[in-house]
Amino acid sequence: MSGRIAAAGDVAAYPGPRGHRRLPLWTSAIEQARVAALALLRGDEAEELRPQPYFWTEQFGLALKVCGELPVAGDPETLDGVLGERSALLRWGHADGTGTAAALGYRIPIPRLRALTRPVAAPP
Ligand SMILES: Cc1cc2nc3c(=O)[nH]c(=O)nc-3n(C[C@H](O)[C@H](O)[C@H](O)COP(=O)(O)OP(=O)(O)OC[C@H]3O[C@@H](n4cnc5c(N)ncnc54)[C@H](O)[C@@H]3O)c2cc1C
Repeated sequence: MSGRIAAAGDVAAYPGPRGHRRLPLWTSAIEQARVAALALLRGDEAEELRPQPYFWTEQFGLALKVCGELPVAGDPETLDGVLGERSALLRWGHADGTGTAAALGYRIPIPRLRALTRPVAAPP
C-alpha cells in the first residue's frame, strides 16, 4: 500500500481472475474492510486480499446462497434436489476446473458450499 488511504466495500475495485472489478456484496465489504484496516496498520506487510466470493439473499420467498465467481454462463449441473421443486444444489463449472455453486431453497453449511467451488480433478 502506498500512501495512507484505503478503500473497502462497494466503492473499491480490485484485481482478480476476471480482471479489475468491484464485488458489491455484504461479505465482500467485510473481508475488504479487514484487509484495508490491516493495510493501514502494517503497510506493505499486510496480507493481500484473497476474495472468497459469497452472497446470500432471499427472493420471492426463496433463500439463495452462492459461492464462487459471477456472472456464470450456461446451464448448471444439478448436484442434488430438483430445481422445479424450488430446492436444488447447483454448480457451474469453469474452464480452470473451479466452479460457482448455488443453493436455492436448499440447506447447506457455507463451508460445504464453498468446497464445491474448488477445482474438480479431471477424470483419468
Ligand atoms: C437493495 C439492495 C439489496 C442488496 N441485497 C444484497 C444481498 O441480498 N446480499 C448481499 O450480499 N449484498 C446485497 N446488497 C449489497 C450490499 O448491501 C453492499 O454490497 C454492502 O452494503 C456494501 O457495504 P459498504 O459498507 O461498502 O457500503 P454501504 O453499506 O452502502 O455503506 C456506506 C455508508 O456510507 C454512508 N455514506 C455515504 N456517503 C457518505 C458521506 N458523504 N459521509 C458519511 N457517510 C456517508 C452511507 O449512508 C452508508 O451508511 C444489496 C444492496 C442493495 C442496494
